[in-house]
Amino acid sequence: MSILMGAIADDFTGATDLASTLVGQGMPTVQAIGVPADSFDPGDARAVVVALKSRANPPKEAVADSLAALTWLQDQGAEQIIFKYCSTFDSTDYGNIGPVADALMDALDTNFTIACPAFPKNGRTIYKGYLYVDDVLLSESGMKNHPLTPMTDANLVRVLSRQTPHQVGLIDMNAVNQGSAAIRARFDELQEAGYRHAIVDAINDADLMSIGEALASVKLVTGASGIALGLPENFRRTGEMSGSTDPTLPPTNGRSAVLAGSCSIATRSQIVAAQDHWPSLSLDPLSFADTPERGAADALAWVDSQTADAPVLIYSSADPDAVAKAQDKLGRDEAGDLVEDTMGAIAQGLVDRGVRRLVVAGGETSGAVVQALGITGLRIGPEIDPGVPWTETLNEPHMALALKSGNFGAPDFFMKSLAMLP
Ligand code: ADP
Repeated sequence: MSILMGAIADDFTGATDLASTLVGQGMPTVQAIGVPADSFDPGDARAVVVALKSRANPPKEAVADSLAALTWLQDQGAEQIIFKYCSTFDSTDYGNIGPVADALMDALDTNFTIACPAFPKNGRTIYKGYLYVDDVLLSESGMKNHPLTPMTDANLVRVLSRQTPHQVGLIDMNAVNQGSAAIRARFDELQEAGYRHAIVDAINDADLMSIGEALASVKLVTGASGIALGLPENFRRTGEMSGSTDPTLPPTNGRSAVLAGSCSIATRSQIVAAQDHWPSLSLDPLSFADTPERGAADALAWVDSQTADAPVLIYSSADPDAVAKAQDKLGRDEAGDLVEDTMGAIAQGLVDRGVRRLVVAGGETSGAVVQALGITGLRIGPEIDPGVPWTETLNEPHMALALKSGNFGAPDFFMKSLAMLP
């Protein structure tokens, strides 16, 4: 059975978020880590999300990686392609949203696409082309200070126009409110007038469902995970996909562990909540900076001293003062690399000790762990909290893995995730 939907995501936890949305709409989905090898087997999945790390790369590299992912997805039979980026439209005037979308359109031989980063469930809405984060404009949100992609303009028509030589139009709430036929009519109108891109307003999930229906025959769709809400239903309408399979939890037999490298407020409160129930170990990068291998070795010796019955929680997460102290002493990137390498080595040691249920908190931390474990693909299971599903690794070591973007999840996330597993 070939796949129906192919997606190219510009970062790792964003790919999981999109994959989880597709699964939530009844589409069996796997996530590939990087452009898959020819031997990668999506099994009975009807959608594959290729997770790239291209958001902050030079546009040329982002385009090359995205085109390589597209070629692989087309070889698997993908009929529709989603280019997934962040719901805060993270990009600069150089890209990478415009250049990647243009390159994908050329390769797909199509001359129209939409851009809709709305994700109402997480407070991202678009009205008259302006992107809101909760109750404020994007340009007034924390994103204005982002270290790599500061977003200082909330008008997405303007933002995208700076990233592409082509015309960018707007399909506003007046059309969206009238439903899918009216939206489709606006696609045709804009296309005939020479527009290649259109920002589409959306303030709730019902809007995204109407937009999704209107997109049935659009080859390339760009947006955040919300844009995928209404797409799987199109394949049921044509009979190419039937029913709505419930995602199943990964089979689990083995010890449980949580690794947290995110220093976000959400993750730190999740750690505090779990510490009441499980043994925990704090990793201070300053204590092993001189002999980096000691970080993992000491942590694993601590694991060996614990009973195998209870989950273990190991975290480097710290408050901003402690992080600043480590960064001052070691350098920002060096401190991050030291912690990530240590987390990767700990993950390997945990798997060697029989851990087969692992929760990881932090985007970069998740990347480091997945890389250290040599994982090439994930089958997406049921959602734990919005945007974070349980997954099952497709290659050895076969295990249950939950990868959480730092800020996601309720305070009881760690306990809730492990309690879900049989
Ligand atoms: P998030 O999803 O919250 O952004 P990430 O894992 O992506 O979390 O990023 C956290 C970064 O902070 C990683 O590079 C990690 O190695 C680094 N880090 C974690 N703990 C510490 C610490 N105690 N001191 C300095 N850097 C740290």
